[in-house]
Amino acid sequence: MSVRPYRDIYRRKSRQISVGDVKVGGDAPITVQSMTNTLTTDVAATVAQVREMEAAGADIVRISCPDEESTEALGKIIPQVSVPIVADIHFHYKRAIEAAEAGAACLRINPGNIGSSERVREVVKAAKDHGCSMRIGVNAGSLERELLEKHGEPCPEAMVESALNHIRILEDNDFFEFKISCKASDVFLAVAAYQGLADACDYPLHIGVTEAGGLRIGTIKSSIGLGALLWAGIGDTVRVSLSADPVEEVKVGFDILKSLNLRHRGVNVISCPSCARQQFDVIKTVEVLEKRLAHITTPMTVSVIGCVVNGPGEARETDIGFTGGGNDTHQVYIAGLPDHRLKNQDIVDHLVELVEAKAAQIEAETTAEAERNAAAE
Ligand code: SF4
Repeated sequence: MSVRPYRDIYRRKSRQISVGDVKVGGDAPITVQSMTNTLTTDVAATVAQVREMEAAGADIVRISCPDEESTEALGKIIPQVSVPIVADIHFHYKRAIEAAEAGAACLRINPGNIGSSERVREVVKAAKDHGCSMRIGVNAGSLERELLEKHGEPCPEAMVESALNHIRILEDNDFFEFKISCKASDVFLAVAAYQGLADACDYPLHIGVTEAGGLRIGTIKSSIGLGALLWAGIGDTVRVSLSADPVEEVKVGFDILKSLNLRHRGVNVISCPSCARQQFDVIKTVEVLEKRLAHITTPMTVSVIGCVVNGPGEARETDIGFTGGGNDTHQVYIAGLPDHRLKNQDIVDHLVELVEAKAAQIEAETTAEAERNAAAE
């Protein structure tokens, strides 16, 4: 029995596959992925964007391969980046084979759309020869005509049936290294389809609400859809789809996982909305602080609260706490306990200093513990 059972999430048991050196499914951490929106043929721009996503914490990045020039470029991009790359293929089985040869870690392709069974065999062989996994990507907007006729409209049952049809093709080819997505732009449809798929198979699931919209509404829809699924233990890798910079997709993906305690990365700032009682400008402080702390990857919690109404209580649960006090005299908490006061000093500079020092301390402790464990083995 855990100390706080209301926070427990029981993850669906799935098989584990590899996307390059990143594990997806089973007990592997839930990964965050995104997709480049540069021209794949522009190698320099695509490499730069992948690196930006890596810096934001992306575990996996997908790149479109619409033509032969793109798969050629893929071969130049992959050696220059660290994260495993998923090649996004639609219909053209030759692009899939070229992408596997170019070093893609995973192919996003629907075997039912490739054409003849001979072509499917060739793609599966290329994947096996080059150690690629695959992702079956069912989308409510592009369901097979027969399924639409049978079910009348894109519905969860049609989406699950489509996924099972694609799954069967790969299984018939003795291929099991794949994950599946079942996306829709409608939150209800996406969630219901994933729930159905989670019951129907044990393959790892790539979850997402597709074409979710711009930064704000897309973040909200994704948080509701992915949040509901993750909370129910469904989902092994997430992609947030936004009409925005893909780096934002990575950040939102991480924030969703962080909010559910499923991944920890960087500083989790807890701050109040501020009101007439605030003893310093909370909104401006948090805005600047978040930017200044963006480089920290060590998991840590910092509370920034405008006054004593909620400040001490929130600080109790954080690594570093800050509460506004009267006469420009604020209280700083370390590990939940009052530590010192801050008077007439720059709040952001002071908090950044404290967080950086704490991050260095945590990292040093983690390294020392790893060394002790290695020595004990
Ligand atoms: S903590 Fe204080 S300043 Fe912040 S919203 Fe609550 S009452 Fe207002």
